[in-house]
Amino acid sequence: MPRTLALIALLCGLLFSVPLQAQVRQEIAFPDLPGYSTLKCDFHMHSVFSDGSVWPTVRVDEAWRLGLDAISLTDHIEYQPHEDDIRADLNRPFDLAAARAEQHDLLFPRGAEITRDTPPGHFNAIFLDDIRPLDTADFVEVIKRANAQNAFVFWNHQEWKGPERGRWMEVHTQIYENEWLHGMEVCNGATYYPTAHRWCLEKGLTMLGNSDIHGPDLVNRTVSEEHRTLTLVFARQRSLEALQEALFAGRTAVWFENQVIGRREWLEPMFARCVTVDQPHLRTVRAVWTKLRNHCDLEIRLQRTGELGPAEIILPARSVTLLKVGTGSPEAAQKLSYLATNFVIEPETGLPVTLEIQAAETP
Ligand SMILES: [Zn+2]
Ligand SMILES: [Zn+2]
Repeated sequence: MPRTLALIALLCGLLFSVPLQAQVRQEIAFPDLPGYSTLKCDFHMHSVFSDGSVWPTVRVDEAWRLGLDAISLTDHIEYQPHEDDIRADLNRPFDLAAARAEQHDLLFPRGAEITRDTPPGHFNAIFLDDIRPLDTADFVEVIKRANAQNAFVFWNHQEWKGPERGRWMEVHTQIYENEWLHGMEVCNGATYYPTAHRWCLEKGLTMLGNSDIHGPDLVNRTVSEEHRTLTLVFARQRSLEALQEALFAGRTAVWFENQVIGRREWLEPMFARCVTVDQPHLRTVRAVWTKLRNHCDLEIRLQRTGELGPAEIILPARSVTLLKVGTGSPEAAQKLSYLATNFVIEPETGLPVTLEIQAAETP
């Protein structure tokens, strides 16, 4: 009996001397583009330091677990419903989490949400050096001060509420013409804003998609069916400077529900790397048999626009799909024309793509 007790004590000792749960990360699959790394980013979230319900370091742990590369904690400057319980400097949430972000190899620009009534609405500023100077009455002055720190400034959830809902107003022209406004949320959480999408295209603003998460993220791993609304940033390398440069240059796309939304310039090379066609494994008298590979975490939907191939093809995330193409010349190269309906280049507009099947090698 004493030996059994000793054994139990030993086992307990072993159990509690090692970490109970290793931190495991599930990578999100979106391909890098020629010359650019694809960074998975969320630039809008809250902690207990404004109206969120988690401690700032929790945001870092969640982002790591879910496969993100960069996040910004953007607590409201002007709205702090927990201030009777938590009184702190505006920089405190960032300062509390910065070391943890570094330990997790997560890019973590300092950010804040400028939370004025509507109009003008809510704006995020990220890559700030110091949030405190933004706590000032005049809205235009706040945006000017953010820009004095070289911050990247974007307009959040544009159609949320208020008189500026769906409207571009004088104050927006003022900050835009000063080049103090650099982007807009095309998607925030579960909402897509077609007006913001159109304005980004017309005015050369950077497209963003963010979670605006307030509660804890209870998702364990990112999958195509259940993922945060994210910004994919095409950066020259994985660094804060490169991230900032890519945002100012507009090299982004938005992963929203089962769509990627972005400029054709970026979605075209992304599709080319997401979907590849194998060398055919069988050529019969009337058909070619091959495989389509989807390398990314998006279920890709294709609608035929040409003569060849099935009328509709759905490529589940990270999968291989068998493809039979009926043709009278199975030895020849084939070009299949499709519309990738969930690669969105304008509101309600998919991306035209070509699937190329190689010719048989002549001996
Ligand atoms: Zn907001
Ligand atoms: Zn927010």
